Amino acid sequence: MPSAPVIGRFAPSPTGPLHLGSLIAALGSLADARSQGGRWLLRIEDIDPPREQPGAADSILRSLERHALHWDGPVQYQHDHAERYEDALARLRRSGDIYACICSRAALARAGVPDCLGGCRATTHAARGMPPAGAWRLRHGGAVHYRDRLRGELSEDLGVTCGDFVLKRRDGLYAYQLAVVVDDAASGITDVVRGADLLDNTARQCWLMQRLGLPRPRYLHLPLIVGADGQKLSKQNHAPALRDDEAARNLWQALDFLRQSPPPELARSSPATIVDWAVGHWRPDAIPLADMPA
Ligand SMILES: [Zn+2]
Repeated sequence: MPSAPVIGRFAPSPTGPLHLGSLIAALGSLADARSQGGRWLLRIEDIDPPREQPGAADSILRSLERHALHWDGPVQYQHDHAERYEDALARLRRSGDIYACICSRAALARAGVPDCLGGCRATTHAARGMPPAGAWRLRHGGAVHYRDRLRGELSEDLGVTCGDFVLKRRDGLYAYQLAVVVDDAASGITDVVRGADLLDNTARQCWLMQRLGLPRPRYLHLPLIVGADGQKLSKQNHAPALRDDEAARNLWQALDFLRQSPPPELARSSPATIVDWAVGHWRPDAIPLADMPA
């Protein structure tokens, strides 16, 4: 059976400049796709304006270019995709997979339940006409089994971990899970290579794909850089921005972190040469599982 052409992607949120952790995800996803003769797309996940930093999206694009991480096709922006998210929600409303939950966060906390007190779940809004203003929740289906290329078979019982999860918030913002699943399918993404901090989103995303009848990509979650305190290096804990004038050094360090064994002299090459080397020598089986310091 001929397999579909590989399409990978890098999908940063514009909450700050690129840092070494995000460079590892960018380089890893590019090398994985291009080493299989595939394409590599770039999507800016700008669906949460309160968390975004002005100018961050442009800064990320500039840094990627300076690191010779050149994407295929136009940059996609999630803020352009509201129509496709609404289409997906409309399908899920028709199939009865989602319901409008009007339970307040305070009421849920008092009751000690993660999702809904039950009244909204039991009601079919289609029968009542207009749904009340609330968060749209997806009915969970219990255990979800999926595979990670590094970790093997994994499973998560959504009934235990999160219950019916939100796809569109009460304030009108789309949830990350909905945007990622709908956009990956629209772009024909076959291979998701991303940081292990996103591993615990995978079961929810697989379940949503199943309810929408969308194909499931292959998953590879890369280890994270942790600081001296054991915390993940992230924009939230003020990871230092990458210096674009040290692109070659940064790329070499990212390859070394992923245990791709870049030769020492490669560090003196141009960013484009290092990226070509990464594609030509990509060995996903050499990637370590454990998070570690840079
Ligand atoms: Zn509710």
